[in-house]
Amino acid sequence: MKRIAIIGAGISGLSTAHAIERLAGEAGLDVEVTVFEREERTGGKIWSIKEEGYLCEWGPNGFLDSKPMTLDLCDHLGIQDRLKRSNDNARKRFIYSGGILNRLPENGPMFLQSKLISWPGKIRLAQEFIKPKRTDGVDETLADFARRRLGAEALDKLIGPMVSGIFAGNPETMSLKSCFPRIHELEQEYGGLLKAMMKMAKQKKAEVKAGKQVASAAGPGGVLTSFVGGIQELTDSTVKELKGKVLTSNAVTGLKAIEGGWELRLADGSSFDAEVVVSAAPAHVLKELTWFLDGELSELLDGIPYAPMNIICFGYEQAKIECNLDGFGYLIPKGEGCEILGTLWDSSIFPARAPEGHVLLRSMMGGAANTGAIELNDVEVKERTMGELKKIMGIDAEPDFVRIFRHQRAIPQYIVGHAERLEAIDERLKAHAGLILTGNAFFGVGLNDCVNAANIAGEQVVSCLNAMH
Ligand SMILES: Cc1cc2nc3c(=O)[nH]c(=O)nc-3n(C[C@H](O)[C@H](O)[C@H](O)COP(=O)(O)OP(=O)(O)OC[C@H]3O[C@@H](n4cnc5c(N)ncnc54)[C@H](O)[C@@H]3O)c2cc1C
Repeated sequence: MKRIAIIGAGISGLSTAHAIERLAGEAGLDVEVTVFEREERTGGKIWSIKEEGYLCEWGPNGFLDSKPMTLDLCDHLGIQDRLKRSNDNARKRFIYSGGILNRLPENGPMFLQSKLISWPGKIRLAQEFIKPKRTDGVDETLADFARRRLGAEALDKLIGPMVSGIFAGNPETMSLKSCFPRIHELEQEYGGLLKAMMKMAKQKKAEVKAGKQVASAAGPGGVLTSFVGGIQELTDSTVKELKGKVLTSNAVTGLKAIEGGWELRLADGSSFDAEVVVSAAPAHVLKELTWFLDGELSELLDGIPYAPMNIICFGYEQAKIECNLDGFGYLIPKGEGCEILGTLWDSSIFPARAPEGHVLLRSMMGGAANTGAIELNDVEVKERTMGELKKIMGIDAEPDFVRIFRHQRAIPQYIVGHAERLEAIDERLKAHAGLILTGNAFFGVGLNDCVNAANIAGEQVVSCLNAMH
């Protein structure tokens, strides 16, 4: 029997444990998987908090159904009947600009009519069609890419808000090819984004005509999906399904290579030996754990920064809100000078997240461009958020319900050089057989990306075990 230790019981660690048990079973390998978690609870960034009839998400709201990874995990766990798709009207997304909430255009005619982008901005955006593709292989920032292909206005009003919505990040530092590899590929493959969209739409039409089932030509898209009881059902169900142990309040404090495997030192002073170790802990934790093992690896991990974020949940009596909450919510361009990054209309996205006759709003504050927000006290966070909701949505009432969640290190930032850093990390790992890294610091921050990376880590563990035979 081979022992596998996993560090961290977020979605990455838990789905890795699940993948290992499944794949090892298929390969006829006898394994014992143990997951070590620093906190009292499992789930990491996933935490669905139910209070006073409100269902508040501490971290992620859900995953997109346009990629199969999380849905496949749900199949394996037998929890498909618990899935909850967001409302159809959650497709309506808004950008706060020029003092109003502008609906984000979803197609050409909507784009032409939209007041979000000025006519010069629209003309500049249309010129994307004739802009030559970049071929020098430079790891470009999201901002440089957007300015080069789409123009400065599209960067401010479309790309910037999208980057803060997904990464709480700063487009001036983040890498296009690491954050949005598909967009990078589209430019390289088709010569531009508009060209790619047109060719893919044509392809899709032909495939539909030929009777083939096809995914959306527009790329990621998809429907935000969660569970009846919130996204935590995903991690809770994974824990329940595991044959191995999940040991909470059990931080790993050290990592040492020993004959035939690894020794984990634990916070209570004890140790645990395993043939293979998978780290699904954040990069800054792994940096500490590898300090004595491999200084160079530790330094490489240290170079992955995280953005902080405050999440502010407000519950209101519906009658006190005049603003139409029919939609997903809004994001705010940096140039608007607001304290918050945006607000999700959580009880519109997933009904039954607020008591009858009430609504639940969830605002985000902070991110890479406003790191000081995490230092504000609760009164300041509440008052500043209320000020923004008054300005943007006209809400003058006191909320009936307030919860403030803080993430000192919310989301890893894939800054320029990330891909090279990953290659260098891979190179260092060659000297440490049986140490495998996964988690959101490396290959994508979305839940689908984490589950995908976990499946790959599971395959690596199995081939590692096979090599030991
Ligand atoms: C506010 C917010 C909103 C988000 N919204 C979405 C969304 O809507 N959709 C989406 O797809 N993604 C979203 N994301 C991203 C997604 O939630 C994360 O990328 C993902 O949950 C990360 O999972 P993980 O397991 O890699 O890391 P984590 O969840 O951070 O798990 C790491 C675990 O390691 C543990 N740990 C740390 N140190 C040790 C140690 N020494 N020993 C043992 N254990 C340790 C931690 O306690 C933690 O449980 C959001 C993220 C945030 C912060």
